[in-house]
Amino acid sequence: ASQACHGRSLGALSASDPLPCIRCEPGLPGFSKVPFNDLAALHAEVDSRTVAIMLEPIQGEAGVIPATQEYLKGVETLCRELGILLILDEVQTGIGRCGAMLAEQTYGVRADIITLGKGLGGGVPLAALLARGTACCAEPGELEGSHHGNALMCAAGLAVLDTVLEPGFFEQVQDNGRHLREGLCRLTGRYGQGEVRGQGLLWALQLKENLARELVAAALHEGLLLNAPQADVVRFSPALTVSKGNIDEMLLRLARAFARLHARQQAHREMPA
Ligand SMILES: *Cc1c(COP(=O)(O)O)cnc(C)c1O
Repeated sequence: ASQACHGRSLGALSASDPLPCIRCEPGLPGFSKVPFNDLAALHAEVDSRTVAIMLEPIQGEAGVIPATQEYLKGVETLCRELGILLILDEVQTGIGRCGAMLAEQTYGVRADIITLGKGLGGGVPLAALLARGTACCAEPGELEGSHHGNALMCAAGLAVLDTVLEPGFFEQVQDNGRHLREGLCRLTGRYGQGEVRGQGLLWALQLKENLARELVAAALHEGLLLNAPQADVVRFSPALTVSKGNIDEMLLRLARAFARLHARQQAHREMPA
């Protein structure tokens, strides 16, 4: 999909849009990209040579853009009708981030293949590829490599899974996510910014102008490390174990950062020409 980010291997880079560096042009052949959340564009692009459709349920690097329910359901239906594989990149959305083990569950779809990483290791390098039914064609151990199946990292991953599977964990993620969303909405109202979008504990605040870099710098002055995936978007994806107190502290610092930014803009405006 347009604005997709699927990772840094050559294949994953080729599936991303745009290719993140000129040195990796032209990438591998055989990847077509279509606008996200546009079912008609997808239908028009798919033909008899299409083997798979890959997308993020919520586009992370693009600025936390959720697939609409209608879109993801439509993609699944198209895949089933034409015998195409549905691949969901859940590297960013999986393992509790969206308030469920996988984001696909919150949409009520079932992918043939799912990629996992990031949260799976809870901070240590660990990634996985899940495949269901006939899409599962690799034998255990077939894709071995020096660091594949690393026992230490897998132990960390199992500890993560034990934690997120504890009763009430996903509900807590949803509850804290609502708390974060409400706080962000209050701030966007007060400082005249755009929409707040996301799910679980993955949120974006859309800024009215390309001021994300300035906001990140102002936040740093307040001891807050912010992440800006786009020039007009800041992203919030705290540890899944974050407390409401942590969130309130973050919101307070973010409010101060906004105040700094506004004071600076005010000063600019009042400066004589
Ligand atoms: C981080 C990420 C990846 C993986 O990136 P690598 O740098 O290759 O580990 C893949 N897909 C999404 C959606 C990501 O956010």
